[in-house]
Amino acid sequence: MANPKTSTIPLVSDDETNVIRIEDLRKSFGDHEVLRGVNANVKTGEVVCVIGPSGSGKSTLLRCINGLESITSGNIWLGGFNLSDEKVDLNEVRKHVGMVFQHFNLFPNMTVAENITLAPTQVKKYSQDRARTEALELLRRVGLEEKADARPASLSGGQKQRVAIARALAMNPEIMLFDEATSALDPEMVGEVLGVIRSLADEGMTMVLVTHEMGFAREVADRVAFIDAGVIQEYGPPEQIFSNPTSDRLKDFLSKVL
Ligand code: ADP
Ligand code: MG
Repeated sequence: MANPKTSTIPLVSDDETNVIRIEDLRKSFGDHEVLRGVNANVKTGEVVCVIGPSGSGKSTLLRCINGLESITSGNIWLGGFNLSDEKVDLNEVRKHVGMVFQHFNLFPNMTVAENITLAPTQVKKYSQDRARTEALELLRRVGLEEKADARPASLSGGQKQRVAIARALAMNPEIMLFDEATSALDPEMVGEVLGVIRSLADEGMTMVLVTHEMGFAREVADRVAFIDAGVIQEYGPPEQIFSNPTSDRLKDFLSKVL
């Protein structure tokens, strides 16, 4: 897959390995402390799956990583950008980070191609022609080239989510975040979306995925983070997390989901 470099400065220089560094991250909503001291690194090209019970802070963590939520205390570095620095340009940071949501969030009044070309034309100032050419290439990658001029409403859930992935990729992000990207899909459509995510992993994309697909996490993740009560309780290779869990919390969680 051709992945032309963006005009923005790359997140990491060649001698850095951790493209994401999270240090004692805390996030409160009012007096409810949702993230209570999260520490984690993600290496360039690594696929990290985040698992854990509902309400444990998984979505909040992802939203902090791309600056959708302000940080209460602690630090998140994306390459050389420190998100806790109030002078950081969040629009610049977000050019490097693509996000895919459970409910697709496509713009219903635009065609599939228009959904994909919007950010490149608005933010990167690409011409319509160039943005359209790249959109068609992205749609080919996710197997939906023939849907370029369709409206989102005419697509299945799996197709919508593949368009949402293409849209996120259109900004040439160096990091992709997925928040339960398959949870809203009918079971027969989960595979087609996981297939696209797997191909991104094979191409070396750095990814953080919140997922309930334990089989997928076991197969595709380089490391799995188990988060519970706002803290990463265990973080390691899938064999360790799934076959040798150490904490009672993780053992209990796995007994319910496996
Ligand atoms: P998960 O994704 O693991 O299910 P979330 O990160 O969505 O968990 O939520 C963790 C906790 O934070 C929940 O108790 C939720 O109600 C709370 N929370 C999340 N977002 C907000 C918000 N914008 N305002 C107030 N509370 C929130
Ligand atoms: Mg969530």
